[in-house]
Amino acid sequence: MISLRSFPKRMILPSLLLATLIIVPFAAPLITADDPVKIAVRYRMAAPDLAHWLGRDEFGRDRLARVLYGGQVSLTVAFVATTIACIVGTFFGLVGAYFRGPSEFITSRLSDIVLCFPPILLALLVVTLFGPGVVTLVAVLSVLYFPTFARITFAEALRVASLDFVEASRALGTPSRRIVLGTILPNIAGPLSVQYSLTAAAAITIESGLSFLGLGVVPPAPSWGQMIRGARQFMAQDPLGIMIPCAALVLTIYAINFFCDRLRDTLDPKGASGSSMDEVSKPLALADAPAINDPEVIAKISNLRLETARFGTPAAVIEDVSLTLRANQCTALVGESGSGKSLSSLALMGLLPGAIRQASGTLQLRRKSNEVVDLGFLDARTLEDIRGNDIAMIFQEPMTSLNPVHTIGDQMVEAILAHRPMSKSAARQHAMSLLTRVGMNDVERRIESYPDQMSGGMRQRVMIAMALSCEPRLLIADEPTTALDVTIQAEIIELLQSLRQNQDSGLSLLFISHNLGVVADIADRVAVMYSGQIVEEGPAERILHDPHHPYTRALIESMPSSHETLHSTGGQRLPAISGTPPLPSARPSGCAFRDRCPIAISACADIRPALYASADGERAVRCLRAPEAPADLKNNQTEAA
Ligand code: SF4
Repeated sequence: MISLRSFPKRMILPSLLLATLIIVPFAAPLITADDPVKIAVRYRMAAPDLAHWLGRDEFGRDRLARVLYGGQVSLTVAFVATTIACIVGTFFGLVGAYFRGPSEFITSRLSDIVLCFPPILLALLVVTLFGPGVVTLVAVLSVLYFPTFARITFAEALRVASLDFVEASRALGTPSRRIVLGTILPNIAGPLSVQYSLTAAAAITIESGLSFLGLGVVPPAPSWGQMIRGARQFMAQDPLGIMIPCAALVLTIYAINFFCDRLRDTLDPKGASGSSMDEVSKPLALADAPAINDPEVIAKISNLRLETARFGTPAAVIEDVSLTLRANQCTALVGESGSGKSLSSLALMGLLPGAIRQASGTLQLRRKSNEVVDLGFLDARTLEDIRGNDIAMIFQEPMTSLNPVHTIGDQMVEAILAHRPMSKSAARQHAMSLLTRVGMNDVERRIESYPDQMSGGMRQRVMIAMALSCEPRLLIADEPTTALDVTIQAEIIELLQSLRQNQDSGLSLLFISHNLGVVADIADRVAVMYSGQIVEEGPAERILHDPHHPYTRALIESMPSSHETLHSTGGQRLPAISGTPPLPSARPSGCAFRDRCPIAISACADIRPALYASADGERAVRCLRAPEAPADLKNNQTEAA
């Protein structure tokens, strides 16, 4: 239940304004005793007085009563129709996007058919056929607006359904209904709420328009459109008559838009200081975090916990993650899909999906100016400035990260100008020097090429060049070589290595991969993630050749490329890790890996292992049976075993 204390501050004003504008019309009997339809011709267009604050209309009816009772009709028609359109459209959009095939066809064609008709013409046609009235209005507005909801839902749901954490839920066998309602729907609530506001506002306008034309609410029942229709003929003699319903319309539409704008920002954790963490101030967060005294540390994640944000009990998707990223160092994050690697990096970019929020912990970054900021508590504008400038990211598939309709040059120039004040020609020169730096030949020609005229390797070089355009201090590479063939993979790894070693300002590379062979080539340190936690962390050489956590060991043994280089077994069949990782909401008690662990003991079900550091402090492991585990724990285990 939402308590008043937890109600977001930014929602207070719009909620009060909207609530007032909705409650006041429905409190009409308490505000005025006048009958909105009672005619008193001898008082027609009487000026306001103490008994009739807004005067009387062309039939001598009390205007205050009419505008209040008219508001009831207009608001009811608009909100009921919008809610029906939203529910029906969202249903079609979700089903079409998630199940595809015939469902997608039905959603698209149905929307196309309705959208072919201009809204007001369709409304006129239906109202003319079925006769005016409130029920017809609600029906026609619902039909008019559901395709917009279906299309928005469809597009947004497709985007969210392709995200890692949804794929992971699918892979883990989560029922489709739970994925759609519990994961995809909360993630698209922001755009839907904005569309709801636009539609409700448009529905009020259309209702008023149809009533104005005599095709909406049937006289003498009041509505704002009816009032405008009646007052139009006497505009010159009695301007107040038309101003009152118009003001009611404008104020209501403004209040709805204001409310939904703020709601969108509040629902979207990436929004400007609009997350549910409004109440936590930036200085407080930084004060709580361990200070970064070492100037070599570029970023430091401390005790990070990310939770599912919306409905039901929050589940930790990332728990107790701490990581230190240093200048001129490559740290690899490895683990199966859904282990939390990509979410951790998205948190560093301030790009968490809408359904995930930072519940605790800090994400500190040392900016180029040497200022240390907490990325979880910055407003949207500062985060935008940091992205590309201090932190950059390259993705797995460069073809989908580059815009196919613009040349490489245009895209690079745009990225450079977003952060650096310089002329277009200087930005172009800079783009060419960057392309040369990432090993591109014939840059004069290449800069005029479109992405589809390049090979995968070249496109990834372009992405790296774009990422480096403002000389970030932290470069996040999310599976950057997965889509490339082995030769190109090696070239890209070599390029990333040389960039990190040669950058004067000290580039820190966070390399996300499931390929331990590649990680062995590039990483200085490795952090292995399992079920949202780091289970082993330390120097790459030591972790990959002497893993202490059974999960790390199993990962290494199940990797064909790493198998050949790290643990040759003489042509034996590669062992797979049995079972699947647990869902965040269904982790077992004790160690999260225990259901799959070949060396689990009874204590593993009772004790949740911490990250135990080695004596030299160089590595740490989250396992009760690791050499690093405290002696008293190991003694107990021996007894238990
Ligand atoms: S704590 Fe127990 S279950 Fe977990 S990895 Fe270690 S031995 Fe396996």
